[in-house]
Amino acid sequence: MTEQTDSESRKLLRRLKESLAEDSAGQARLDHITQIIAEEMRSEVCSIYLFRDAETLELCATKGLNPESVHQTRMRLGEGLVGRAARDGRVVNEADAPSAKGYRYMPETGEEVFSSFCGVPIQRLGDKLGVLVVQSREARAFSDDEIYALEVVAMVLAEMTELGAFVGEGEALQALHTNPMMFRGGIGQEGVAEGHVWLHEPRVVVTNPVADDPEAEQKRLHDAVDQLRVSVDDMLKSVGEDPVDKDHRDVLEAYRMFANSRSWMRRMEEDIAAGLSAEAAVEKEQSTARRRLGQASDAYLRERLQDLDDLSNRLLRILTGQGNDTGAEIPDDPILIARNIGPAELLDYGRGKLKGIVLEQGSVGSHAAIVARAWAIPLIVHAEGRVTSEALNGDHVMIDGDQGLVHLRPDDTVVSAFRDKIAMQAKAQERYTGLRDLPAEAKCGTRIALHMNAGLIAELPSLEGSGAEGVGLFRTELQFLARSKVPQRAELAGIYSRVLDAAGDKRVNFRTLDIGSDKVLPYMKREDEPNPALGWRAIRVGLDKKGVMRMQLQALIRASKGRPLMVMFPFIAQFEEFKAARQHLFDEIERERKLGHVLPDHVEVGAMLETPSLAFAPRQFFEMADFISIGGNDLKQFFFAADRENERVRKRYDTLNVSYLSFIEQIAKRCDETNTPVSFCGEDAGRPVEAMCFAAMGLRSLSMRPASIGPVKHLIRRVDLTEARAVIDEARECGEQSVRGRVMDWLRGLDPA
Ligand code: PEP
Ligand code: MG
Repeated sequence: MTEQTDSESRKLLRRLKESLAEDSAGQARLDHITQIIAEEMRSEVCSIYLFRDAETLELCATKGLNPESVHQTRMRLGEGLVGRAARDGRVVNEADAPSAKGYRYMPETGEEVFSSFCGVPIQRLGDKLGVLVVQSREARAFSDDEIYALEVVAMVLAEMTELGAFVGEGEALQALHTNPMMFRGGIGQEGVAEGHVWLHEPRVVVTNPVADDPEAEQKRLHDAVDQLRVSVDDMLKSVGEDPVDKDHRDVLEAYRMFANSRSWMRRMEEDIAAGLSAEAAVEKEQSTARRRLGQASDAYLRERLQDLDDLSNRLLRILTGQGNDTGAEIPDDPILIARNIGPAELLDYGRGKLKGIVLEQGSVGSHAAIVARAWAIPLIVHAEGRVTSEALNGDHVMIDGDQGLVHLRPDDTVVSAFRDKIAMQAKAQERYTGLRDLPAEAKCGTRIALHMNAGLIAELPSLEGSGAEGVGLFRTELQFLARSKVPQRAELAGIYSRVLDAAGDKRVNFRTLDIGSDKVLPYMKREDEPNPALGWRAIRVGLDKKGVMRMQLQALIRASKGRPLMVMFPFIAQFEEFKAARQHLFDEIERERKLGHVLPDHVEVGAMLETPSLAFAPRQFFEMADFISIGGNDLKQFFFAADRENERVRKRYDTLNVSYLSFIEQIAKRCDETNTPVSFCGEDAGRPVEAMCFAAMGLRSLSMRPASIGPVKHLIRRVDLTEARAVIDEARECGEQSVRGRVMDWLRGLDPA
């Protein structure tokens, strides 16, 4: 950048700052700003377009176009050159605008006499706020220096918009973060909740985008970056050389690389020289990185841009002194909103505190989802549209985990419809509570055993209230995921013992550690696998790295002294794996016996059937297994070759697909032949219609989240499973792909309960 534009942009920013300091507000301030920019840029027109809603831009102020068109001229995102600049988040610079592709003539503005057009997006950390436009009669392209100056100004306008500087009482412009908004996301956990926003990482607010003294700002930036470098070095030292910390170290190394990057520093120094404050300069570069992040498809590049984004946040917090603790009080009914969150941070909030969770990232099988499921609170993952930037702490929010919807600052109609839904669910819940002590016995007399899935001790109290007969699946990952190192045997034994205490005489099937795929232990070296779901996971890790599995088996044996012990091994794909794992358990029991420890009074060893191969294992496998649990989440993904984490393909295949139901039927038959108890513990067991169909196909035991027991029991008690089976058979014979249509028709024809 030349000295000349450097000082020009400073002068322009200084004038903007003065206008900010004046008493005028809202529209008057905006009008004044367009005038200043037009004068300083020596262009005949300067206009500011801001978003009315996510899709519509509105001309909010102009110097040079017809004043009558202000608040009248609107365009959709992508429409015309203004809409294009907003949509792409890129500058549009055209010397001969009327003949440019996509030009759209707005007759009411009188813009036809202006040839050249330069539109610069007004955006803040990836949020699109509007477009700053300059136009002139002379057909000329704006120079790089001029564009740079406009970008700097747009950055300041973005900060001012965010701070509500253009909002005046009774005026057409509305403050940001006040409109009702709706976001769609993926279903991480069903259920509905109403509450108030609690941001996991509150946004940093920059109140001083323009600075008078560039030298002082350069020094502030350098001091802050020094401090940042020291903190990254300290973090690196604390991670140490242990190979299990490799992932963490890689991220910190990337941080260090950015913190020492000359080009990053140079760009920020230039921004400061142009008149921005140190924090505005950091934000400007962060915005550019966010835009690239939104466009990058390469996974490695995305990760690095994410690192740069995190680092910029740290730098902003140093510069502004704003930490995670803003002094705001957590509301009584918090709904947590975050870009992403790890299990440990989530567990820190404590069970019973949060009403629901909304994540911009995360996935159905993520650790956060496991915790949310354990806490039985609704979770929305992959929320679209940057809900973290839009929501403010304390905003009213309603989330619908059944449909994956977030209503932020909902209007009255949404509120009343939503409350009706909550009331209906509460009523249904009352009805289910009435069924608690009744068996899940169908009209034909067949009884289905309903168990619950759990993963935390804190969930065990639900065992009594839910009416579950026992814990069909206790996932032991959470205790491993939520720690920074492998838990100790004594600690685990204590936890398992408390689980058994809480279950009393009810059965608990402990599943040994199931890690790998999406469940990554922070302290365990992660192999870069092309396809982790088909990779080194669960029992494969257990059998190869025997130390952890043996330690866990010892902890289970010690916890159950004198009591029955039920252990099941995850992801068994062939008989040999089951034999080997089972032998480890017996070896550990023998070892404990030799040590003189009290042994469990009775041991059952089960296998999880999660890969189609195991359904075709030799008869001897079924004879040897004391029980089998169908892990439908995994089984279904392998049966249809459709990733359970990939929303796009996951939903293509209905659980009530005839092939899948026939497969479940075959498994039930094989288990019957050897009298091997079989249960189904995937998420589908908790969906009433699916559960009823599984029962009709021959399964007599299901395990699900506690909240599903009531609805599943309610449906089972309403139906005759022989009739259900006849409906399914008919659909199969007719060559239908899924039995859902016929089953639903049949259910609708039943007497209301
Ligand atoms: C399953 O795969 O169905 C299962 C219960 O295990 P997880 O969801 O923990 O993989
Ligand atoms: Mg599984």
